[in-house]
Amino acid sequence: MYLVCSDLEGVFVPEIWVSVSQHTGIDELKLTTREISDYNVLMKRRLELLQKYGLTLRDVQNVISLLKPLPGALEFIDWLRTKTQLIVVTDSFTEFAEPLIRQLGRPTLLCHHLTTDKEGIIRDYNLRQEDAKRHVVDALHSLMYKVIAIGDSYNDISMLRRADHGILYNPPQNVADEHPDLEVIKTYQSLRRVISQIIDDDE
Ligand SMILES: [Mg+2]
Repeated sequence: MYLVCSDLEGVFVPEIWVSVSQHTGIDELKLTTREISDYNVLMKRRLELLQKYGLTLRDVQNVISLLKPLPGALEFIDWLRTKTQLIVVTDSFTEFAEPLIRQLGRPTLLCHHLTTDKEGIIRDYNLRQEDAKRHVVDALHSLMYKVIAIGDSYNDISMLRRADHGILYNPPQNVADEHPDLEVIKTYQSLRRVISQIIDDDE
């Protein structure tokens, strides 16, 4: 039996940090896992910038509250739930992802969390575990599930490779070029077709 594990940002909702960059005018905050392959380097830099400009968790959450799912995402998720179950596996944080997950109808969310101080400044980030996305696939395999994994960025690659079917959804060209053997899909419609085929063939 198949389950679907999908990334959040870039697949169902816009990139949070790109939006924060646009709303705050801090250009460097627009870098994401789509451009920088080392997640820890990226996160440390983001937190430094937030602290430097005095931006609090609330400021970031205010930007996130303006975000809406990508066009077609809700319809795709509704359809997907008629076929199988969806687990959203993101390297974002409970404090950021929660309102977005609510808008998506609350699929199961597996992510990390933040540490903030009394002033609301984000002091640190806490990974639930290293290479968490890949571990989710391993855990589901241990429960005898097969996994279709969907993601768009460098931090999804180990999950996509460990899954029974790994799909790069709308990746930036650099990620696609560096992983030419992974299937690239660019629309929810094509994603539906491919997932249908995989699940139907399995029955
Ligand atoms: Mg992503």
